[in-house]
Amino acid sequence: MAEIEETEEQKKGLNFVEQLVADDLKAGKNGGRLNTRFPPEPNGYLHIGHAKAICMDFGIAEKFGGTCNLRFDDTNPVKEDVEYVDSIREDIHWLGFDWGNREYYASDYFPQLYDLAVRMIKEGKAYVDDQTSEQIAEQKGTPTTPGKESPFRNRTPEENLDLFERMNAGEFDEGARVLRAKIDMTSPNMHFRDPIMYRIIKTPHHRTGTKWNVYPMYDFAHGQSDYFEGVTHSICTLEFVVHRPLYEYFVKELADESYCPRQIEFNRLNLTYTVMSKRKLLQLVKEGLVAGWDDPRMPTISGMRRRGFTPRAIRNFIDKIGYTKYEALNSVSLLEHAVREDLNAISTRGMAVINPVKVVITNYPEGQTEMVEMENNPEDASAGTHSMPFSREIYIERDDFMENPPKKFFRLAPGGEVRLKGAYIIKCEDVRKDENGNIVEILCTYDPETRSGLPGSMRKVKGTLHWVSAPHAVDATVRVYDRLFNVENPAAETDKDFRELLNPDSLKVVENVKLEPFLAENAAAGSHFQFQRIGYFTPDTDSKPGNLIFNRTIALKDSWEKAKNK
Ligand code: ATP
Ligand code: MG
Repeated sequence: MAEIEETEEQKKGLNFVEQLVADDLKAGKNGGRLNTRFPPEPNGYLHIGHAKAICMDFGIAEKFGGTCNLRFDDTNPVKEDVEYVDSIREDIHWLGFDWGNREYYASDYFPQLYDLAVRMIKEGKAYVDDQTSEQIAEQKGTPTTPGKESPFRNRTPEENLDLFERMNAGEFDEGARVLRAKIDMTSPNMHFRDPIMYRIIKTPHHRTGTKWNVYPMYDFAHGQSDYFEGVTHSICTLEFVVHRPLYEYFVKELADESYCPRQIEFNRLNLTYTVMSKRKLLQLVKEGLVAGWDDPRMPTISGMRRRGFTPRAIRNFIDKIGYTKYEALNSVSLLEHAVREDLNAISTRGMAVINPVKVVITNYPEGQTEMVEMENNPEDASAGTHSMPFSREIYIERDDFMENPPKKFFRLAPGGEVRLKGAYIIKCEDVRKDENGNIVEILCTYDPETRSGLPGSMRKVKGTLHWVSAPHAVDATVRVYDRLFNVENPAAETDKDFRELLNPDSLKVVENVKLEPFLAENAAAGSHFQFQRIGYFTPDTDSKPGNLIFNRTIALKDSWEKAKNK
């Protein structure tokens, strides 16, 4: 009794894919072995959708003591490149997963796949079709009307074999002929209507060079690749449900009944204000509409890394949205929430003034500097403190001062007092303007009794401002990102070119941002900061000493949600 309860309890924490796997393991299927794989096509950089698949494929193997292969599905040399292979490896590692020595390539199986094709030809199960792809598409029929048989369908095995070998020898042009499986042109599953197995491609392959002139279609490579690797659970997204019977059909050509990889499908990740199609992402890169695959506005793993998102935030987000059997559109706010949550816990606090105006503290001795202590992270006592210079001239945000403030303005105004975080209470005595009436300096006095830590600092004032000592400030550039698209679901706007939906204000560059020295000294790549009262920032990959560039990872609060609730 107690045992059953425990099993049910354990099951509660599992998603539906994990439950199916747990059941198979418990039933002793495949000798209790669990082997998954992540099968990217190296034709682009990985995006957050792939991260969902990675977390499943690698995560489930980790959870149940199995293994996960990394397999590059490199069956189309026209679109593939080693640059993509390298980026995919880097991104999976960054997310925190490892495939050990189990790195495989569909191209490694080209010989076995070719042999299988030859055998199927000899057994009358495949034929060479001389029609164009348009003609073949026309004969396909529809889900409710049967297809038409190709006039080349009944060639003899000898003729088919001869033609297929000559296709591979390079005798024919691309598109001149294809090899098709001879299955059933009336099947209710369109994928069984004599699917194409091989096409002619003359672009050299990044691994096999010019060895082959025929390349297997994804559908003729994928299921068998799983089989060759001994994959037990082939987990993928829902669009492959309709391909599953065909994969099983091809695997049966290789195997007896005792073993077939089990395919389980889950819902894709779709995000609001985001496009996830690799074709469209490639277009953005190629047309220079973004600064590259790792542009911080891209939904790519590399873009998110550059922007300052953390692997833990991404994994927490994916955990939260979960895996189901139904397609959905997830709010990008959920991802941003996970990012804020993680950055709040880990980022080092510092002061930066984005839109500076100078404040002169007239009763503070000229040339004097004193150091004040600043907490590095109030969420983490072990993070310690750092010291920050205070002097007679400081910068505050222009927005934190108003000459004629409304009633509830609690920041600095003529005659009013504010606290400078970690330092003193100051009082505004006067302002100095240029000939156009713009404020160039705010003149204040400070109260020496109110230094942080002294009893006088307990005095109540309504506002606390961040600030940076002017003579010590280090200049930086800040890149502020907003959503790349203006509409919630770009994929649904089928009547428009997706490029028309781009948000023209998705990148703002702010120069002359004033940093406290501590920030400048610690601006190492990959570090995470909270600029107090502003948001979370990370040094960009372009940043270097003397030319500091920070990306705003995310604002402190979700301004989109606020706008919606107004
Ligand atoms: P395409 O095939 O159009 O080039 P793709 O996004 O399917 O693009 P693959 O490299 O084939 O790219 O994807 C590798 C794996 O990642 C597949 O198993 C696929 O199911 C999964 N995957 C891709 N996009 C998503 C997504 N948005 N959500 C979850 N999984 C995804
Ligand atoms: Mg795909």
